[in-house]
Amino acid sequence: MSIAGRIASTVRADIRELTAYPVAHAEGCIKLDAMECPYELPEAVREDIARSVRDTPLNRYPAADLSALKGQIKTAFGVPDAADVLFGNGSDELIHLVVQACCNPGDTVLSPWPSFVYFDMAARFDHARFIGVPLTEDLALDLPAMLAAIREHQPKVVFLAVPNNPTGGLWPDEAILAIIAAAPGLVVLDEAYQPFAGSTWMPRVLDASNVVVMRTVSKIGLAGLRFGYLAGHPAWVAEFDKVRPPYNLDVLTQATLSAVLRHKAVLDEQAARLRADREPLAAALAQLPGVRVFPSAGNFVLARFSGKLDGNAVHLALKTRKILIRNFSNAHPLLANCLRISVGTPAENAALLSALQEILSA
Ligand code: PMP
Repeated sequence: MSIAGRIASTVRADIRELTAYPVAHAEGCIKLDAMECPYELPEAVREDIARSVRDTPLNRYPAADLSALKGQIKTAFGVPDAADVLFGNGSDELIHLVVQACCNPGDTVLSPWPSFVYFDMAARFDHARFIGVPLTEDLALDLPAMLAAIREHQPKVVFLAVPNNPTGGLWPDEAILAIIAAAPGLVVLDEAYQPFAGSTWMPRVLDASNVVVMRTVSKIGLAGLRFGYLAGHPAWVAEFDKVRPPYNLDVLTQATLSAVLRHKAVLDEQAARLRADREPLAAALAQLPGVRVFPSAGNFVLARFSGKLDGNAVHLALKTRKILIRNFSNAHPLLANCLRISVGTPAENAALLSALQEILSA
């Protein structure tokens, strides 16, 4: 039998129809497409990492006892003492572990939509049913629709990205509380962009019996490391720990993280810089002809292009000029002609704005 025939009769049909998570080739480009931090770590931090990594034995599996790193994470990121944390190879892995642990085939995973695409993907991988509850035309949370969908579909897991990706919206506390109260299963508050938002659910993570908070270090300068953590009641964490692949957090990541956290102020300072640079970027984008900018609490802004050129054309014109941003024009009707732009360095932001001025006035 040919390989194609063997695959057709072996790999799940729904998997064969998927496309792999898209990652753009970025060599030589100004990279504003993935909400990375544009700043590299300072020399002193890199020296500390180098020492830490050099002294890490590679011949043994990672140790079973992660309590030292857990302590460091809890202190650095304000996790309540009584909560436990689970580590993931990026928070992508944690999303997957939660769905795996909670969902039988056909169970529902629910999220406002559009939101982070991996909520949907992880649900599909595990034969769960994904329900995306549409945002309003203004890309705000539709709380009545969320509550009605929760009543109707009784989801095992509700994912709430706060702030939301790709729209940037920060859902109001009262709406989050209402969703937590209505949800029959678990509510995962995905705070990937929390460092740019200024509010967090973390101190309240133990207040309700059905909440965990997920975070990542990807957006605050460490996207290359692949590290995320989930904080919650130790009983929830213990269940998710059962489906965690053995040794998912390698020793080099642990050593690097431990060294970087000795310089946590550097990460905070970088995040503060990006947060401060977001508003001038958003304001300058909003001045361009035919551009609507949606309010953002993340390190990115979503803009709709409805002038002479549509979203696809603007995206392509920027790509030709070696500026990469993320095109959502064809992703969902609510995102028609929408492009997502990560906040870069001041020089990168200026280059983007002058390219857009040129493109839109041509
Ligand atoms: N959650 C949200 C809302 C995200 O936007 C992303 C990254 N795009 C992630 C989680 C995944 O982050 P990580 O790099 O830790 O896998």
